[in-house]
Amino acid sequence: MTVLFPALTDPRAADRPALRFGDRSLTYGALASAAGRVGRLVAGEGRVAVWAVPSPETAVGVVGALLAGVAVVPLNPASGAAELAHVVADSAPRRVLVAPGTELPAALRGVPRLEVSAEPDGGPGAEPAGEPVREEGWGGEVPALVVYTSGTTGAPKGAVLPRRALAASLDALARVWAWTGDDVLVHGLPLFHVHGLVLGTLGPLRLGGEVRHLGRFSTEGVARELGAGATMLFGVPTMYHRIAEALPGDPALTRALAGARLLVSGSAALPLRDHERIAAATGRRVVERYGMTETLMNTAVHADGEARAGTVGPPLPGVGLRLVDESGAALTAPGPGEVGEIQVRGANLFTGYLNRPEATASAFTADGWFRTGDMGVLDPDGYVRIVGRKATDLIKSGGYKIGAGEVENALLDHPGVREAAVTGEPDPDLGERVVAWVVAADPADPPGARELAEHVAAALAPHKRPRVVRYVAELPRNDMGKVLKRALTQGG
Ligand code: ATP
Ligand code: MG
Repeated sequence: MTVLFPALTDPRAADRPALRFGDRSLTYGALASAAGRVGRLVAGEGRVAVWAVPSPETAVGVVGALLAGVAVVPLNPASGAAELAHVVADSAPRRVLVAPGTELPAALRGVPRLEVSAEPDGGPGAEPAGEPVREEGWGGEVPALVVYTSGTTGAPKGAVLPRRALAASLDALARVWAWTGDDVLVHGLPLFHVHGLVLGTLGPLRLGGEVRHLGRFSTEGVARELGAGATMLFGVPTMYHRIAEALPGDPALTRALAGARLLVSGSAALPLRDHERIAAATGRRVVERYGMTETLMNTAVHADGEARAGTVGPPLPGVGLRLVDESGAALTAPGPGEVGEIQVRGANLFTGYLNRPEATASAFTADGWFRTGDMGVLDPDGYVRIVGRKATDLIKSGGYKIGAGEVENALLDHPGVREAAVTGEPDPDLGERVVAWVVAADPADPPGARELAEHVAAALAPHKRPRVVRYVAELPRNDMGKVLKRALTQGG
């Protein structure tokens, strides 16, 4: 039996703040009523979609379905028509949960809608729903969420996450971050991926703490909330980049970050330069954690651990992690800097991709480990460093394997570079050559290609220097701020 939200049935928690979106907030008592009402209305439906704008209605809809043991498919309101049509056809939800008055795109016209109110009694004119559902505990293997992957490397796939995976991953994070119901989390992440939904929303609610959502991320919002009692910040690297840029002229932001208990970054690698700039200005090191839609969280730097730039910490309690060489053999004692594919297992893992038995089968090894597709190395103390994705970030050039990330970090260290992404492309001599895509700090006066090549050669090693530099106005990114290398290399 897996109870996800004990605070919702705890009378002592009824008056505690649970959620805040802008000027709208709910206590645990109000959330128990509003979500319990939704739970009654969707009970027995198998799978429902939630139109996941950052709002109390989204949180009430998701929690309500989970109370009733109904799986939730969070939909990205900003997705294009084709992507949305794909997700709707693939996941076949019985209903779509929306805030009253929401206009939905054509892809959802055939799906009956259920208007969700964040009012405890369902709001004016609400249909009677009967007694609110109270969570009694469903089997751990009952699906809780079907979350679509970010689509960084291909079409998004629906990962089926059972209830025990949510519980396992959140409880492991709570342990290593000493994360409790006394914490107040601020975030400005979307609610249709694991980071913003599972960690950023369901995490605080599982622990009986408070989540304050900024609506849209802004450094002013971060300063305001951390300055007004929030203890933790969850963000993606593009947010920490904006923070790093804003810090020098913003004493309120500097004070707010310095006073926070925990600053967490994830979803993509935090550039070393931003990590160091934030540490220098605030005295606080951003803690990185590494996870995936399919596995929830795998590693995290502990709250009292050393947040070394470029590392994502040790495996979380309950997570098995190994590195595997190209032949598929586990590296039993990987040497310093020895790169292998990261494979994981544990109760945090998904059960499979929806409607894709073949993709599910090939995602696991014969002995049950999940192939993350990420390449990593292990520091002597067991900290993991992510080198990059096997498919796009490992460049085989002149007999060497070059990780895109370290070249990107070296480029970002050049004052003339605002943003950088590194890819490989076929080369008759080298096999592949290193290509740098650069957004110049001053587009009217970009640093020369030779200068950048020399800069990288001096920082890393000559064979890692970019052979080609392409200047672009911006890097294509998805809604989590991840660089879409496919779009760069395919010119799309
Ligand atoms: P798709 O699987 O559809 O191509 P995606 O892999 O980007 O998209 P997610 O499941 O949202 O979709 O992202 C997981 C990936 O994000 C990981 O496999 C890893 O490559 C990257 N990632 C997450 N956290 C970190 C981190 N702290 N440092 C570096 N990379 C990270
Ligand atoms: Mg992936």
